[in-house]
Amino acid sequence: MTGAKVDILGLMPHEIIEGLQEMGEQAFRGKQVISWLYKGVNSFEDMTNLPKTTRKKLEDTYIIGSVKQIDKRISKKGDTIKYLCLLADHNIIECVVMKYNYGNTLCLSTQVGCRMGCSFCASTKQGLVRNLEVGEMIAQVVMANTQLGQTEERGIRNIVLMGSGEPLDNYDNVIKFLRLVHHPEGLNISYRNITLSTCGLVPNMIKLAQENVPITLSISLHAPNDELRKKIMPVASAYKVDEVINAGRYYFEKTGRRVTFEYSLIDRLNDNVEDARELAHKLKDFPCHVNVIPINEIDEVLYKRSSEARIQAFVNTLKSLGVHVTRRRELGQDIEGACGQLKRSYLDSLEK
Ligand code: SF4
Repeated sequence: MTGAKVDILGLMPHEIIEGLQEMGEQAFRGKQVISWLYKGVNSFEDMTNLPKTTRKKLEDTYIIGSVKQIDKRISKKGDTIKYLCLLADHNIIECVVMKYNYGNTLCLSTQVGCRMGCSFCASTKQGLVRNLEVGEMIAQVVMANTQLGQTEERGIRNIVLMGSGEPLDNYDNVIKFLRLVHHPEGLNISYRNITLSTCGLVPNMIKLAQENVPITLSISLHAPNDELRKKIMPVASAYKVDEVINAGRYYFEKTGRRVTFEYSLIDRLNDNVEDARELAHKLKDFPCHVNVIPINEIDEVLYKRSSEARIQAFVNTLKSLGVHVTRRRELGQDIEGACGQLKRSYLDSLEK
């Protein structure tokens, strides 16, 4: 939300260079601007190798978007940092840095709120407020890099689009974000290190497979059949489990990239051994991966976390039937790790 001025953080390198040329500047000035942009500079004034006149022209045409960190929570183990960020229009989003031994991973938001209505999710309680702009997604990466100290080892190496919002419901902005974050002159993050999580918007999954953006696709399935899935995810009324799995197969065939199915275990709802058997049957001959995630309990819903015995039985059944399955490492439970929870507890604390 930038008013009349364009957020330069949301532009591709060639668009920035063209913009500078339209101002009567040479192309190399564009490259100089690009070299500053992702270092967390807040104003064109700080781009000290540019002439004052160029900086003034930039100032008149663009803004450098940013997200303002207003709260930060670090898990007890120190492996998860959750940031609450203020946008220019005073909406609030969250992003989370997770420290894995293969590098720092940023989980970012793609929308303010979400209209998908998954019953276990805090992000959807107020519905969709708006889509995030490309620059607002890039700004989350820049903010995290600035917080971590920018160096090669400490900066963000992996990105997961799993914060609030359904990425494929903000399709055009998300595709441009992916191309920009991957661009060698942008943030230069390999497509292999990017994962997009969807609740299964089949037509856009098929479109994504054709974009030549070979990222990892993570599909929130959470149930092996339509009847059960409808109880958890309203999107199941629009797209059948079989259609979602087939779109996943198509994505794999088209891109060669691994597809992961996310399965949140909810006590006595979808964590039965029969559910695991049905899931294994549906995924037969599909070289995919299943991530089993014991649910984080949130205030508003009645769901309970599955017992250890039930989690183990579910995982072991899948394994015994040949499914590649991992139980996802649970990060940051003590800092309200499920999407949307930090934001809600912050807003609640303001209301008290
Ligand atoms: S789980 Fe994802 S898709 Fe579902 S409501 Fe939450 S943010 Fe939206």
